Amino acid sequence: MTEPVFTKIAIIGAGLIGASIARAAQEYGAAESVVLYDVSDNVRQRAAGIGLGNIAADLGSAVTEADCVFLCVPVGALEAVAADAVPLMKAGAILTDVGSVKEQAASALSAAADGRVHIIPGHPIAGTEQSGPEAGFPTLFQNAWHILTPLAEGDADYAEAISRLEAFWTQLGATVETMDAARHDRVLAITSHLPHLIAFNIVATAFDMETVEQGEVVKYSAGGFRDFTRIAASDPVMWRDVFLHNKDAVLECLGRFSEDLAALQRAIRWGDGETLFNEFTRARSIRKAIIDAGQDSGAVNFGRNLPKGDEDESA
Ligand code: NAP
Repeated sequence: MTEPVFTKIAIIGAGLIGASIARAAQEYGAAESVVLYDVSDNVRQRAAGIGLGNIAADLGSAVTEADCVFLCVPVGALEAVAADAVPLMKAGAILTDVGSVKEQAASALSAAADGRVHIIPGHPIAGTEQSGPEAGFPTLFQNAWHILTPLAEGDADYAEAISRLEAFWTQLGATVETMDAARHDRVLAITSHLPHLIAFNIVATAFDMETVEQGEVVKYSAGGFRDFTRIAASDPVMWRDVFLHNKDAVLECLGRFSEDLAALQRAIRWGDGETLFNEFTRARSIRKAIIDAGQDSGAVNFGRNLPKGDEDESA
């Protein structure tokens, strides 16, 4: 087994992502000791009950002496948690996060900075629609991207801290990429945030129709709709915060999406089969490119019956 990257890590927020980091760090020996803290008594008890690691009774005892603190809380809670954590952290430690929006994470974490800790925002492109400590599993980050969005300015110590954090995520099985925060937010708006918004919306529309169609929507929810319901089962707090904090990029994508949808609507109305055929052919080639890039399986199972970890709907 390879050497641990960190002696002690602290994970704040023991939900899906926090629990997965805890399990993976222990399974792959990336940290000698792992301590978790969650604001909720109930979550702390459940995390202790399933043996996630050491569970701290308060934030201070979790982050003190930690070499790296991972904030795994909803994006809207980052600023307050960072402000509480930083004064309790030791000098030279790393403060990172896993939030799905990175410009806001950078300003939330930077607002708490006191010059003693290294702020390195990050985002694992891995997840499921489940939440809570029981949802975590160690292989979640295997073969997934982990995007780091380091702050623009930094000295040699900061560069060294980035290297250590990269080494940690690599040991968990991820491939680390460094990116500008604004670019991250634009890319994720179209690849993750808008698809979730569409899923939430189509399920809401079907739910309204359900009362009209008297059970037929659920009964015949084969293929496409069933997959949308899986995505739409994602945590409402997490997704509320994503849309509130990546507003501009999501609205830009939504504008383009609405225009393209209107063009398809027009093609259907006017019987323009050529436009429909050309658009669907283009979409199919993108699907093929994703499979060729190893981002999904081309197995004929409609995305079901995959081993845990391959059923990902990254956020
Ligand atoms: P989750 O399962 O709901 O876990 C979040 C945990 O944080 C909950 O137990 C929550 O407790 C706790 N929490 C909230 N405020 C806190 C505070 N002030 N101090 C300490 N703990 C606090 O959510 P998750 O899916 O792990 O998501 C966590 C972060 O990862 C989010 O920022 C999200 O954007 C990001 N992310 C998620 C995915 C995904 O697929 N789910 C993928 C990549 C990144 P309560 O439940 O009591 O509020």
